[in-house]
Amino acid sequence: MPRRYKSKKNPKAFHLYFQGEKWNPFHGCDDVSEGCGNCYARRMARWQKRLHRKRRHPKYQTDGICNRFVLPPDKPGATAPGFGLELHWDEARYAADHTNKRISRVVNGKRLSLPPLAELCDHTKTQRRVFVGDMSDLFHKDIPDDFIRLVFQGTQHPSPRRAENQYLILTKRPTRMAKLWPKILAGQTPPENLWMGVSVESNKYVHRADYLRQTPAHIRWISVEPFLGPVHKLDLTNIDWVVSGGESEDRGQLARPLQVAWVRELRDKCKQHNVAFMFKQWGNPRNTQDKTDARNIGDPNGGCVLDGQVHHEFP
Ligand code: SF4
Repeated sequence: MPRRYKSKKNPKAFHLYFQGEKWNPFHGCDDVSEGCGNCYARRMARWQKRLHRKRRHPKYQTDGICNRFVLPPDKPGATAPGFGLELHWDEARYAADHTNKRISRVVNGKRLSLPPLAELCDHTKTQRRVFVGDMSDLFHKDIPDDFIRLVFQGTQHPSPRRAENQYLILTKRPTRMAKLWPKILAGQTPPENLWMGVSVESNKYVHRADYLRQTPAHIRWISVEPFLGPVHKLDLTNIDWVVSGGESEDRGQLARPLQVAWVRELRDKCKQHNVAFMFKQWGNPRNTQDKTDARNIGDPNGGCVLDGQVHHEFP
């Protein structure tokens, strides 16, 4: 059973643990900063490509380019299997379609129904937290405005179950987000169920939070994950939630180190500014602060106990 947490802003509601569900009508990306070095989506795309090919499903069959920031440096020009940008317009249209008519299509002689957001959300009794596009970045320069509008409409579908869910959007391209989002909202009040976020991996990228502040949103959140350096320059004005965690690259071989002092500093700053703070993981048992705490022992991601406490707060 997923763990549930109480919300501060909405005390009657319970929320599923962070990233309860994912919706990916678009996937594939390319790197923008050091945080992309061990991109989870790039690793998953290779596996997804094989899986979808086996199922004769058209997703994840476009290769992308390898990361400039990967450690150790990759050969220039190497490809990232399955990580080319793909937009699934049918799926996005289906989600945005207020008549809820089912769409399916024939691929290689087989009728495939799309995995729509409706199936993910509408037919369950629990409220869900849905991460929108965890295999890409919604504000990637090659994703057209119209597609982003469809994704937005999909999250605002009037079916009661879908309206109750929360949708998390996270970007490393906040300049486009700040410019485009007011046009997408077209004068509407920012919906309560859409949480807009940016990634800030170190002090070098704290300016992303300024663009987030310019973006109209009910809840604004910052992901300090992977936590690659101190973030003491981060301004938390008008920020509701900070999620942090060390890099949890497969087998921990390439994961970059996380220092306890950086996490403590961020936790204290969140407390001072009354911002909900979540510490997800040390990322690698090598980084773990208290290796004797039973809650940290045996966790491949190093556990999440910081100074004897688990910090899993929500706005
Ligand atoms: S922006 Fe996100 S999805 Fe894109 S390469 Fe970087 S970490 Fe991966």
